[in-house]
Amino acid sequence: MSEELRTVTLYDSRTGEKRAFEPQQPGTVNMYVCGVTVYDLTHIGHARVFVFFDVVQRFLRQLGYDVNYVRNHTDVDDKILKRAEERGVDPLELSEKYIDELDDDMSELGIESPNAEPKVSEHIDDIIEFNQRLLDADYAYEVDGDVYYRVEAFEDYGKLSGRNLDEMQAGRSGRVDDDDDGKKENPFDFALWKRSEDDELGWESPWGRGRPGWHIECSVMSTSYLGDTIDIHGGGSDLIFPHHENEIAQSEAASGETPFANFWMHIGMVNVAETTEDGEEVVRKMSKSLGNFWTTRDVLGGYHPDAIRYFMHTALYRKPITYAIDNLEEATQRVEYLYTALRRIDDVLERAGYGIDGDLPEGPRLADGFDELVEDFQERFEVALADDFNTPKALALVGELARSINEATQSKQEPSEALAYTLYRLREHMTWAGSILGILERDPQTALSELRELRLEAMELDAEEIEEKIAARKEARENENWEKADALRDELDEMGVEIMDSAEGTSWRLK
Ligand SMILES: [Zn+2]
Repeated sequence: MSEELRTVTLYDSRTGEKRAFEPQQPGTVNMYVCGVTVYDLTHIGHARVFVFFDVVQRFLRQLGYDVNYVRNHTDVDDKILKRAEERGVDPLELSEKYIDELDDDMSELGIESPNAEPKVSEHIDDIIEFNQRLLDADYAYEVDGDVYYRVEAFEDYGKLSGRNLDEMQAGRSGRVDDDDDGKKENPFDFALWKRSEDDELGWESPWGRGRPGWHIECSVMSTSYLGDTIDIHGGGSDLIFPHHENEIAQSEAASGETPFANFWMHIGMVNVAETTEDGEEVVRKMSKSLGNFWTTRDVLGGYHPDAIRYFMHTALYRKPITYAIDNLEEATQRVEYLYTALRRIDDVLERAGYGIDGDLPEGPRLADGFDELVEDFQERFEVALADDFNTPKALALVGELARSINEATQSKQEPSEALAYTLYRLREHMTWAGSILGILERDPQTALSELRELRLEAMELDAEEIEEKIAARKEARENENWEKADALRDELDEMGVEIMDSAEGTSWRLK
């Protein structure tokens, strides 16, 4: 065993408590996260789950853990079948298309691929075999080509969600699907295998032609990639019941091993702030039926990926987050502020003749007053994330760093060697922290231009038009036509453009 790795504390939603995370195999983390049913574009709720677990994999790897991260695609599902029929296309072609769309959106968000992204359609044999094991052990029964899980056979049913079968039956509502023609022994029994009609997608099985139910795929895929017991199982908090409850019932019954997952991490929902027709400000759960639904693509169309990630990191992952324009704009400003700090370092280092990557100033000697910040930053940052992934705290630390950078880069004079070395170290810390949070990974100047471009679009402005007006004003001033020059300035001001005159010429920024 190599050196001791830092211990991370995690909140386990099954026990409702935080405790030290100890992987079964020291130094190796097996993590399974439920992906998306690919029949449409992803929404920001999905993006939040994917962004969060991206930080989990980045951080654990940074600490030295070997991370095996598996996230599935549900490419066989009744929603897919329905949508494919409506469009008159092949269901697996439809799901393939939406897997591609998902990949595009997630890579634009800077999400690093998991180690494996298995699909249901590629694991049908494993699913059939798993179902057979449950049938053989009397945890399942077959009726007329359908196979159901027998919840009453699993003593611990309800242990994740804290529900009790008897109470649930007493208070039964429309939550269970009763679309079984009375085939089920218990209304909470769920389908492991569904019979397919001749014109429906299906595979041959011992129970006739059919397709898997929803829950079984995750038990099967997590077992085949990561073994009977996984270290971390993640997903959106809307999956706790019935999906994750059913995964536990399937997996523990089939393997005889308890627990199926040592830690359950559930991501809070995304709520949406909106103004009702009566002008009232409300925050509601995002849902298609309420019409307040945001796809990842919609959001990427208006905001920079770094700003979207920053926004998501402003809340603890277990808590709900509110999607509101103000919140996204604030995140955009913060990201702009952080990139500006990085650019200021680059400017100063360049002015002093030090390359950004190459010639390091002579060190190690830090400028006065920076020892603590430089020496302790990484430790403090790791401690924040090791405490159940406290991303708001981590962002605050990055903000502190940027503030110090701004103070250190105020002077127009050439920096001392010690200051140059200090700036170099601060820059290193900032990009290191960014590489874990998945932000600040672009060249600062490029990112600032991208951010400005998005703001121009939102304000329906065009950079060229602004430049033209500035050139016209310059000409008017040269001709001593002050009236025209002032009118142009006012025009720009009204558009939301502030201009600054200096010895080097006129620059502009969006207000
Ligand atoms: Zn799942």
